[in-house]
Amino acid sequence: MRPHHIAAYAVVALALPSSFVSTAAQIGVPQSPDIDITDVNVLPLQGKVTLLVGPGGLESTSANVIMQSSDDAVVLVDTGRGDKTDRYIAAIQRISRKPIRFIINTQAAVDHTGGNEALARSGRPFGGRAAGAGFLLPDQTSGATIIAHESVLKALSAPARQPPVAFAAWPSETYFTDDHELFNGEAIQIFHAAGITDGDSIVFFRRSDVISTGDIFSTLTYPRIDARAGGTIAGEIAALNQILDLAVPREKQEGGTYIVPGHGRVADEADVVEYRDMIVIIRDRVQDLIKNGRSLAQIKAAKVSFDYDRRYSASDWTGDQFVESVFATLTPSPQRAQSPATNGGQRGSPAR
Ligand SMILES: [Zn+2]
Repeated sequence: MRPHHIAAYAVVALALPSSFVSTAAQIGVPQSPDIDITDVNVLPLQGKVTLLVGPGGLESTSANVIMQSSDDAVVLVDTGRGDKTDRYIAAIQRISRKPIRFIINTQAAVDHTGGNEALARSGRPFGGRAAGAGFLLPDQTSGATIIAHESVLKALSAPARQPPVAFAAWPSETYFTDDHELFNGEAIQIFHAAGITDGDSIVFFRRSDVISTGDIFSTLTYPRIDARAGGTIAGEIAALNQILDLAVPREKQEGGTYIVPGHGRVADEADVVEYRDMIVIIRDRVQDLIKNGRSLAQIKAAKVSFDYDRRYSASDWTGDQFVESVFATLTPSPQRAQSPATNGGQRGSPAR
C-alpha cells in the first residue's frame, strides 16, 4: 500500500464520529496511524461530499475544507489558511476534473478564507448573478464565484484589516437575507447565523445530507465567540439549535446527517446536542453568578467550565477565555447599550 493510502485511512479513523471508529478498527484500520501530516488528506463522506483535512491532520491550523462535486462543477466550503493551496488543488483534481465554480465562506477568519484567491483563480464563474444575490463585482470575469454573508465582505474589505486582504479574495457575491440557495447536482442551502460572528453561514447539502457548520461547532475547542465581530453566546446557542433543526439522527435514517465542524472530526446530531448542552450549562452558570452580582474575576475563580476544560480548553482558546467571551456578551457595556445580549445576535455590524 502506498504511503498516501495509509494516510487517507488514518484520517478516516480519526475524523469520523467515535461510533464509526470502532467499525473502522474492526475492518483493520491501523490503530497508531502514520498520518502524512504534510499533505492534504481526502475523506469521502456521503453523497457528493468529500472532506479535505489540511496539513497537520486534526490539529491543522487550516479549517476543514468541504468539497461537493457534480457532473458540471465543484463547490467548496472554506479554503483553509492559504498555505499549500497547490496541495488542495491537487487533492480536488484527484476527485473531480470539473472546475471549482463556487466557494462559500462560513466566516471571514483567515483559517477559512486564506486560500480564497488561489482556489478561486483555479475555477471559473457559473453563468451570471444568482437569484437573491446582493452583490457581484462587474469586472469579475474569471475564477470561481466566492459567496458569503455580507458581513464577511465588510470584514475582508475593511480598510483597517491587517494584513490587508487582496481584492481577488473578497466575496464576489453576498447575501444579506436569512438564507441563500445554490444548485450543483443537488440543492445547497446556505443559512445565515450569528453565532461566533454576525456573518456566519451554515451550509446544508440537502441530498448528500451533510452540514458544514463553520466554527459555530467544533469537536476540539469551545466556540471562539468573537464579540467584536458581533458574536454572542445567545446567537451561538441559537445557531447550534439551527443546525439541530436541519439534522436527522442516525436512529431515524440510514447514516443520518453528517455534521462537519470548522475544525476537528466529522460528527453527528448527538455530538452537536452534547456540545450545545455543554454551552448552555456554562452560560447558565455564568448568568447565575452575574445575577448574584459577581465580577468577571470572581466568576473565573469559580471555575465554571472546570468539568469541560480537559476536553475543550485549548492553549489559544482556554476555558477562561471562553468564559470571558460569555461574560462579555451577557453584560451590557456602553457599546452594547442599544442591543441586549439576549436578542440572539440580531444587531447590526459593529465596527471591527
Ligand atoms: Zn476556524
